Amino acid sequence: MENIRHIFFDLDNTLWDYRRNAKITLAKLFEEFQIKEKHAYTFEEFYPFYYESNESLWADLRDKKVTKDELRARRFPEAFAGLGIENASFAMDFEERFVNEVTNSNYVVEGAEELLEYLKDKYTIHILSNGFEEVTHWKIEKSIIKDYIDTITTAEGAGAPKPDPIAFQTSLDKAGATKEESIYIGDDWIADMIGATTFGMNAIFFNPLNENHMWIEEVPIVGQLIQLKKYL
Ligand SMILES: [Mg+2]
Repeated sequence: MENIRHIFFDLDNTLWDYRRNAKITLAKLFEEFQIKEKHAYTFEEFYPFYYESNESLWADLRDKKVTKDELRARRFPEAFAGLGIENASFAMDFEERFVNEVTNSNYVVEGAEELLEYLKDKYTIHILSNGFEEVTHWKIEKSIIKDYIDTITTAEGAGAPKPDPIAFQTSLDKAGATKEESIYIGDDWIADMIGATTFGMNAIFFNPLNENHMWIEEVPIVGQLIQLKKYL
């Protein structure tokens, strides 16, 4: 990829280890809210309901079926209802605490630091995330990612989530880059890969959980971040 000068990364579960950081925060809150003592459910029982609720609402946000506020109002009430706790009065406090505290854990995805160190002298590096504006900045500021990043664009800031071309165009404009000299790397097939390639950008798919089995001929797939060195 000879002419590439700018690399745009997705943030959650591509560089910032959302799954791990969220799980640590949820376990801590689960204990503080004494859910096991009051409702007789364990964290291990709760977590799959949270995961399902969170993943499907983020997909709905990407597909513009829900707003950010709806996602935040529904994610924990639905997770607790799935578990068997209907009308959980504490669910919105739980949401508030989760958003404020999830960035207290700042694990990055395996290989992220080594990769960013390798890329930093060759390329200008940017973030384009579907995350909330404020939380996205905290995730970057409080982790090692901040040392490598030039610009940050969020769906909230752009006014549209990936795969909408507006999100990609906004991040290019902010970076002062053209699509021909840019490449996008992310872990969501629709938001990241369909989004970038439809927009006309080069792309590489990061597929660590091997969850997705679709492919586009010109899009390489890697299971570990460090394998990106082969292409960049
Ligand atoms: Mg992601």
